[in-house]
Amino acid sequence: MPGEGLTMNLALKLLLLATLLTASLCGQAVHLEESRNEAKSDGTASLEITYIANEGVLIAASGKRVLIDGLHREYKPDYAFLPPDERKKIEGAEAPFDKIDLILVSHLHLDHFHPEAIGLHLKNNPRAMLVSSDQIVDSLSKDFKAFEDVKGRVERITPKWKEKVKVKVAGVELVVLGLRHGNKQHHWIQNLGHIVKIGDKKLLHLGDAETSVENFQSFALEREQIDVAFIPYWFLLYSDGQKIVRDYIKPKHIIAVHISPAEADEAAKRIRAAFPEATSFTRLLETKTY
Ligand SMILES: [Zn+2]
Repeated sequence: MPGEGLTMNLALKLLLLATLLTASLCGQAVHLEESRNEAKSDGTASLEITYIANEGVLIAASGKRVLIDGLHREYKPDYAFLPPDERKKIEGAEAPFDKIDLILVSHLHLDHFHPEAIGLHLKNNPRAMLVSSDQIVDSLSKDFKAFEDVKGRVERITPKWKEKVKVKVAGVELVVLGLRHGNKQHHWIQNLGHIVKIGDKKLLHLGDAETSVENFQSFALEREQIDVAFIPYWFLLYSDGQKIVRDYIKPKHIIAVHISPAEADEAAKRIRAAFPEATSFTRLLETKTY
């Protein structure tokens, strides 16, 4: 019957249309997914931060990878460190710790730095550069046997207290800050802060900076529009440090670091109470994307 034929025809057309529409929408979904992944893999659209241990962080964006305070070994029970198999990978520059362009070290204390760990990574990763203080480079040259093999990729920058040095190394824009270490008995330690500009993001690492206004005031970090600041967790728990974070740093995002493994849960709870938006790094190799 003509009527039936027409209905059949219409039904077929509708089915065809629905199929085409689904296919095209799916195609679009796949395409969007692909472009998102592309943006992530070359780093242009996202910043990925991996917690190493203690104050160690690996920053990746725009095809660049920067490691800060990530090459140390077991020191004291209060300080987190990588287990032996992961430590072997990071010192061997094996995935996921390969392709690191720039290594930064805040200071000499062994929960932030180990000369052999740094030396081995530099030896195993010919693209990596190290930028750090005289004390760090002196220790490396004294305590790492193969220093001669890596010294061409080592640069000394030691700004005086309250002074800063701007530099571009391995394609990464960097400001090195002379920030005094906390506690009077540690004032002889050269402690460096770092502002790392990577992709379109600015990150701040403080080392073990003293929580005094005098230490921070001259840098006017509150005007830098810091996207992510790695903050030693005691800054976030007590009023002198909280004032520094709120008035003298004003970061968009806070990541609490240097959290003792024994008190991780309790510390994270207290940090959340004072800074509800802050992230607390407590699980080794956890990642955070911005
Ligand atoms: Zn220290």
